[in-house]
Amino acid sequence: MSVRAPLLYDGVMDAKAEPVLVSACLLGRECRYDGRHNRDSALERDLAARGMTAIPFCPEEHGGLGTPRPAAWIETSGAAAVLDGRERVLTDAGADVTKQFVDGANGALEACKLHGIRRAFLKERSPSCGVCNTHAGGKLVAGPGVTAELLARNGVRVEGVEGRRE
Ligand code: SF4
Repeated sequence: MSVRAPLLYDGVMDAKAEPVLVSACLLGRECRYDGRHNRDSALERDLAARGMTAIPFCPEEHGGLGTPRPAAWIETSGAAAVLDGRERVLTDAGADVTKQFVDGANGALEACKLHGIRRAFLKERSPSCGVCNTHAGGKLVAGPGVTAELLARNGVRVEGVEGRRE
């Protein structure tokens, strides 16, 4: 079933804390394509120590893809080509999920604007959230995912996190 993730954070926010966008799977939400999470306790401790409030967001769920969902990757070269309308995002069965990925990226940007977020911590290697590495052409390549590319284009500082640290 497709569940569109909400834009607005419904948790408690400290008015003095800096809000930062964080890939929801890094915070323990089971929103990965395979229904698992990438909880990174070291990241949570680090953000708290730096006085940041983590706003969880999963672009692929927001874009309307359900969980679990088929694995997907950028067609050939990278996220810039997807955002510029020159490439698609395809599932491993060949279904076109470009619109859902772009909608999810736009949702992440909208959430940043709504919350005044200038910085995001995103899960590496995802075709949405990857910052230094993503999946294109069925393999791991250098370059960002669709959401990371759109946030960076709009002045949000993106940092990649591998995840799963104790
Ligand atoms: S990496 Fe991004 S798109 Fe993938 S499950 Fe995590 S938050 Fe969602």
